[in-house]
Amino acid sequence: AVINFGSINIDHVYSVDHFVRPGETIASSNYQQLLGGKGANQSIALAQAGADVKHVGSIHESDAGFKQTLIKNGVDCRYVRCHDVPSGHAIIQVTPGGENAIVLFGGANQTITPDIVQKALLDTRDMDWVLTQNETSCIDEVLKQAKAKGLRVAFNPAPMSESVKSLPLDCVDLLIVNETEAAAVTGKETLDDIIEVFKAQWQHAEVLITLGKEGVLMITKDGMERVPAFVVDAVDTTAAGDTFIGYFLSAYSSHSGAKQALRRGCAASAITVTRKGAAQSIPSQKEVDRFLAK
Ligand code: ADP
Repeated sequence: AVINFGSINIDHVYSVDHFVRPGETIASSNYQQLLGGKGANQSIALAQAGADVKHVGSIHESDAGFKQTLIKNGVDCRYVRCHDVPSGHAIIQVTPGGENAIVLFGGANQTITPDIVQKALLDTRDMDWVLTQNETSCIDEVLKQAKAKGLRVAFNPAPMSESVKSLPLDCVDLLIVNETEAAAVTGKETLDDIIEVFKAQWQHAEVLITLGKEGVLMITKDGMERVPAFVVDAVDTTAAGDTFIGYFLSAYSSHSGAKQALRRGCAASAITVTRKGAAQSIPSQKEVDRFLAK
């Protein structure tokens, strides 16, 4: 099983003619409230891919309906707390051209404490992997405690921030980054330089770099695997990375080889980019099987 210490956000999506300017008030022609957050998206992708996934997180009690959405998607939410801190949320303006501008509030995602981490990791009998991103508090504790328990640790430092560099990164067994995050972690710009730094300085871990429509590459213990992306008509790349991570880790944690797991991640995320939205654009396992059979 995989235990994911991750954010649960509510995305408030407003359709606007243009981004609101300083001092201006504009009307929105459409409004949607959607479940989002990298943590929740990755848990849903894991569950849809068939993994046994426990989510550790926090939301406001008035948003318990979003917890139900996670449960309906197959995520074990016994460690999702509902309490009186506002839920993490994003205020998203979307223009007709599909550009967005986002204000993010961490809220309840920032209420994870060392104690909560410890309780969630008390009984690790059926756990293999711990996963976390950079949208919740106490990530250092998650990495350290998971490693100390002998679990395999997957870390997706997204969204990237300066604080990532001071985390106990030696506890990480699998680092999953996109190109921007890879550049920030290594301090390099070109892919060749980035790979060189990872090979030299990250020998304790496997490193997976997603490359958008160029696919993905993984530096494994045995060498390097590269898998191209599937060619599709992309309409919205939101949650591409999250879908990839969920589908990849589900396969990898059930002992598929790296190459096969990478291919499943690419197939699932190729479907996601053909659909609008975040969590609701993550495909089911059946859809991925059908896509791969084509
Ligand atoms: P993130 O969303 O975290 O920035 P990427 O943009 O690297 O991550 O996308 C993650 C994965 O999604 C890629 O490795 C690829 O498999 C798939 N993907 C992303 N964009 C496309 C696209 N335009 N066409 C097909 N697959 C894509």
